[in-house]
Amino acid sequence: MLHIFVCFSGIGVGVLVREYSKLSNLDKFYFAFPGEVLMRMLKLIILPLIISSMITGVAALDSSISGKIGLRAIIYYFCTTLIAVILGIVLVVIFKPGASQRAEEIERVGSTPEVTTYKTKREKVDVTSDVEKNSSMSREELVVTVMMAEVSENKTQEYKVVGVYSDGINVLGLIIFCLVFGVVIGNMGEKGQVLVDFFNALNEATMRIVQIIMWYMPVGILFLIAGKIIEVDDWEIFRKLGLYMATVLSGLAIHSIVILPLIYLIIVRKNPFRFAMGMAQALLTALMVSSSSATLPVTFRCAEEKNGVDKRITRFVLPVGATINMDGTALYEAVAAIFIAQLNDLELDIGQIITISVTATAASIGAAGVPQAGLVTMVIVLSAVGLPAEDVTLIIAVDWLLDRFRTMVNVLGDAFGTGVVEKLSKRELEQMDVTSEVNIVNPF
Ligand code: ASP
Repeated sequence: MLHIFVCFSGIGVGVLVREYSKLSNLDKFYFAFPGEVLMRMLKLIILPLIISSMITGVAALDSSISGKIGLRAIIYYFCTTLIAVILGIVLVVIFKPGASQRAEEIERVGSTPEVTTYKTKREKVDVTSDVEKNSSMSREELVVTVMMAEVSENKTQEYKVVGVYSDGINVLGLIIFCLVFGVVIGNMGEKGQVLVDFFNALNEATMRIVQIIMWYMPVGILFLIAGKIIEVDDWEIFRKLGLYMATVLSGLAIHSIVILPLIYLIIVRKNPFRFAMGMAQALLTALMVSSSSATLPVTFRCAEEKNGVDKRITRFVLPVGATINMDGTALYEAVAAIFIAQLNDLELDIGQIITISVTATAASIGAAGVPQAGLVTMVIVLSAVGLPAEDVTLIIAVDWLLDRFRTMVNVLGDAFGTGVVEKLSKRELEQMDVTSEVNIVNPF
């Protein structure tokens, strides 16, 4: 409730400041600073959180059990991602947001600084002057240019912080290491216990810091929203790309309001909407910070505290989910790729559509849980069906907004996954030694 109030207050403050004051870029930066502080606090806590929760979670499980739980989580995540992709494809094929007629309509509306022209047929569609100048660039250079075109001065800073996780450290590699390390120390008996205790203490300390961050969260969220509202220069672009956005958003809504709850209901036989309500704080955080990794601390708290999911499941399944399970991203990638094909007036055959579904699934698994990672991995999907990689620039201007909603769906998918895997692993969990329960320290 408080978070919804904060969200609307943020919008109100943003609109007021935007209307009644003329802020310089520096003023805007200072204004958004409390929100930036929240982002940084969340990002800084991800690393110790993943390490300590994965190691303690796995060490508390018998290795044969952790293997089964891991496999179930991966199968669940893979199936829901594939369903999301298929849903996205069905919607974009029905709505045809990029059909030529639409493109002409967009062109008629005129140009904007970021999106220069939308031409029909296969004429070159250029958006940023940088890309235009460098049409002979390699794909990697192109992606960097696209990202640089998107990020403003202060947002570049944000990417640097994220870079600690996305570039400097291979999160998937880290998760695999923690898995192996957890299994090994869990099987070392007496000798390994000192390490298990150490990581339990680290986990407790990390969760206490998370609690401190949660107190600050309402302030941070208010300024994150208000800061974004004063920063956006061009609202007109949303009208121009309206049908494309509506297709992505309706797909995300169907996936999160119908499909995921239905799967949860069938398997867990509990009220999925009550479960989703329990995740409200995490979902709102995802909406504000556009990063499933940065939302992870809040996802943990909601799943464990509000929904009472077994810690032996959350600690193991959530970090994996935040890294590889991105239903929202996969759906968006499929819609965006076909939208771009439609803008280029390209008829896709069934083989190309299957290629898009496979590559969109793979690209979502490969995307890091950081803001707009999906936009970068889109290049894989576009290249797979022979579309020009630089066409990602067509959707850049609205990506920051869609990113928030798809991140929300990514987090919801991770959370439902814990409930489903917990239910499917009930027998193993019951069989487990009671001492392993004791190993998991309750930090709250
Ligand atoms: N921002 C998304 C996430 O963190 C990834 C993406 O789709 O760009 O889950």
